[in-house]
Amino acid sequence: MKLKDKVAIIFGGTSGIGEATAKAYANEGARVIVVGRDEEDGDRIVGEIKGNGGEALFAKADVTKAAEIKAVVDKTIEAFGHIDILYNGAGIHDSYKTAVEIEEDEYDKLMAVNLKGPYLATKAVLPHFVEQGSGTIVNVGSQATHVAGPGGSAYVTSKHALEGFTKQLAYDFGGEGIKSNLIAPGFIKTPMTEGIEDERLKDIPAKRAGKPEEVAALAVFLASEDSNYMNGSTVTMDGGWVVGR
Ligand code: NAD
Repeated sequence: MKLKDKVAIIFGGTSGIGEATAKAYANEGARVIVVGRDEEDGDRIVGEIKGNGGEALFAKADVTKAAEIKAVVDKTIEAFGHIDILYNGAGIHDSYKTAVEIEEDEYDKLMAVNLKGPYLATKAVLPHFVEQGSGTIVNVGSQATHVAGPGGSAYVTSKHALEGFTKQLAYDFGGEGIKSNLIAPGFIKTPMTEGIEDERLKDIPAKRAGKPEEVAALAVFLASEDSNYMNGSTVTMDGGWVVGR
């Protein structure tokens, strides 16, 4: 029970890695707010967590909308009294479009979800962390945080920038008991990566896709006290993919 009595908000919690993380946090004793846009998925995940003896709530929000994020934070405080963990996992892909191919509106949308979303969520939660003198932020980068190629122009840019944001949070708030770290997953089998497995696996030393549950185990470590001396770090989980590039 590494997260006993902790309260965690999981943005991007209704599918893939975020869903696995919500369940893993609950298994470790956290009370979780599963945030997403799909109520049906949210209710299903909350039901599964409760069925396993955990505590969870669903909150509907689009991460690009500050007012909806604020409502999630208010709902969390109302239900559970405080917040200990912020997991920023919502993300979209750009289908490998180059800077010429991607249109401005798609570029703006991707940046709004992948980069501005974590900023808006962090801005809404940080005052609570500062007041209580503790808190943990787990951001979700990518292999595209390290290298070009796992996405296109906008995706790779957003995931590199998220690493900078994570470092700056560590720099600005590390002295206040708040840690911020980034997970850089490689190729993980989720709805985002459907249909590209064969092409990807040949470059990955592990010769298999990662499982959302494996990334979730890392997210537990980064949310727990076991990682209290880590701040501003990027932790890669990619089956060795990046070392071969
Ligand atoms: P996924 O598509 O299952 O998860 C992405 C989640 O973000 C979904 O639940 C989606 O509903 C949510 N989301 C998208 N736009 C949103 C918005 N405007 N408001 C609220 N939520 C929104 O795919 P995943 O693979 O689990 O991705 C999770 C994270 O992991 C993403 O940030 C992704 O970039 C990152 N990632 C995934 C892989 C991979 O191989 N699957 C690799 C590296 C990084």
